[in-house]
Amino acid sequence: MGQTQNLEVGPSENTLAIIKPNAVKKNVAGKIISMWEDAGFYIQAIKKVWLMPHQARGFYREHEGKPFFEGLIEFMTSGPVYLLVLAAPGAVQRNRDLMGATDPAKAADGTIRKLFADSLTQNAVHGSDSLKSAEREISFFFNTFELP
Ligand code: ATP
Ligand code: MG
Repeated sequence: MGQTQNLEVGPSENTLAIIKPNAVKKNVAGKIISMWEDAGFYIQAIKKVWLMPHQARGFYREHEGKPFFEGLIEFMTSGPVYLLVLAAPGAVQRNRDLMGATDPAKAADGTIRKLFADSLTQNAVHGSDSLKSAEREISFFFNTFELP
């Protein structure tokens, strides 16, 4: 599906990334996108949207019932986000590494969350946690016409 191939390190894989509302509000979306580009990710698709509560709930349904769930939904619907499909060999794990730990206090220097997170909930970015999640999350937000 329009993916580039890098024969030296294996076939390209897609992962879903989100630039969360706190990062969009701080006007650092471009800096974060540059970090992905500099790390060798190809931007397969990108759009800016303001999620409605039912969409954020559907996206994060695995966390429903957890103590942080309602706060997470409130945050994710508090302003616009960027949704991206990033392509690279090993994209899922490589983006998890580039983002850093969920809790920014534990994120390594130079990671996106270390640089741009404001709290555990407002941690600047999302990245799919497995190939299976990536497939679900990409088809949750993008149709085939949006994935050239
Ligand atoms: P994401 O799914 O957003 O990429 P993640 O996979 O690192 O992050 P998850 O465990 O899937 O982390 O949690 C989803 C999101 O919920 C986190 O990114 C964070 O915004 C929020 N979150 C997770 N755990 C907590 C917590 N204990 N307290 C507050 N917010 C939390
Ligand atoms: Mg997650």
